[in-house]
Amino acid sequence: MYFTPGPSALFYTVEEHMKHALKLQIPSIAHRGSEFIKLHQETTENLSNLLQLPPGYQIAFTSSATEVWERIPENLVENNLFYFSNGAFSSKFGKAAEALGINATGHNSTPGTSPEVHTVNIPSDVELIGMAQNETSTGAAIPPEDIYKLREVHPDVLIAVDVVSSIPVIDLDFSKIDAAYFSVQKCFGLPAGLGVWIFNERCMEKARLVRERKHLHETYHSIFNLSTYAQKHQTPCTPNVLGIYLLGKVAGDMLTKGLDMIRRETAAKAALIYHLYESNSAFTPFVQEKKHRSKTVGVASIEGGSAPIISALAEKGLIVGNGYGEFKDEHMRIANFPTHSKEQMELLVDTINSLS
Ligand SMILES: *Cc1c(COP(=O)(O)O)cnc(C)c1O
Repeated sequence: MYFTPGPSALFYTVEEHMKHALKLQIPSIAHRGSEFIKLHQETTENLSNLLQLPPGYQIAFTSSATEVWERIPENLVENNLFYFSNGAFSSKFGKAAEALGINATGHNSTPGTSPEVHTVNIPSDVELIGMAQNETSTGAAIPPEDIYKLREVHPDVLIAVDVVSSIPVIDLDFSKIDAAYFSVQKCFGLPAGLGVWIFNERCMEKARLVRERKHLHETYHSIFNLSTYAQKHQTPCTPNVLGIYLLGKVAGDMLTKGLDMIRRETAAKAALIYHLYESNSAFTPFVQEKKHRSKTVGVASIEGGSAPIISALAEKGLIVGNGYGEFKDEHMRIANFPTHSKEQMELLVDTINSLS
């Protein structure tokens, strides 16, 4: 069982949906045909219902979240972007913007902490603010309420949120942000190779301005191309059809189960993880501030290094994540995604306690 923070264990219905997809020959259908259009519509409708997207929010498919790190500055920023950096993923977004010639100003927080985003001084010429709501590399999360307060302080600035390892578990009011994006191999428990970029009309407006002023070369995945095709329930290029099919099915299953139930279960399993980190002296929770602890990725430091416990667990078929980047050898990361059951999490925690 994979408890790694992405890719992770597949959502428990994926195998069945995949078998069905092969029977229907989904990977062979034409991406301009009526069957695909129907499939695309079902996926975007299920996703839109699951995330309760307000009217005017569009769903576009990309290759990954990493791609969206480029698409956002490319399409939505003329000169100045601001980003909160509190770990590897949030900082990579800023670096992607810089590489595109955007003036990207970063606000750095110590890894293992989250910025109080609404209290930070942000220059008035900033056009877009980006952050990772759930910094998967450290397990530090930004409460959505703080993002809403940030919006109140900067009503005219676009807000783009990386929700790769928290959506749809996190309860995010999309009407208070302008763009969000994720890859499907984390909380949705799907095979990797598909990204989702959600954006509103304010993003489209801004993109039109940027296009006029910068004489942008329109890429195949420009926001305009993505939007034009999405409205026809198509994509600019031949997409990951199987991935889009599976995402629609899993979003449908999550709708049937109910997000309330999924969120309650997540909270209960997260309590198990943090109780382990606090009660077992071998571990120290990496995020000290409780309100900033991620519910979907629990990270602990382990004195003497994480390798022995990680390999002992692997021998028992329980695969947990090691640390990310500079914390590779020191940390253990446990993913707590919707596919992980309470029983599986209890088994993992009991096994860890018996080994350390
Ligand atoms: C995994 C991850 C990404 C990158 O996802 P890809 O699918 O590799 O593009 C970006 N941001 C966060 C917070 C992540 O956890």
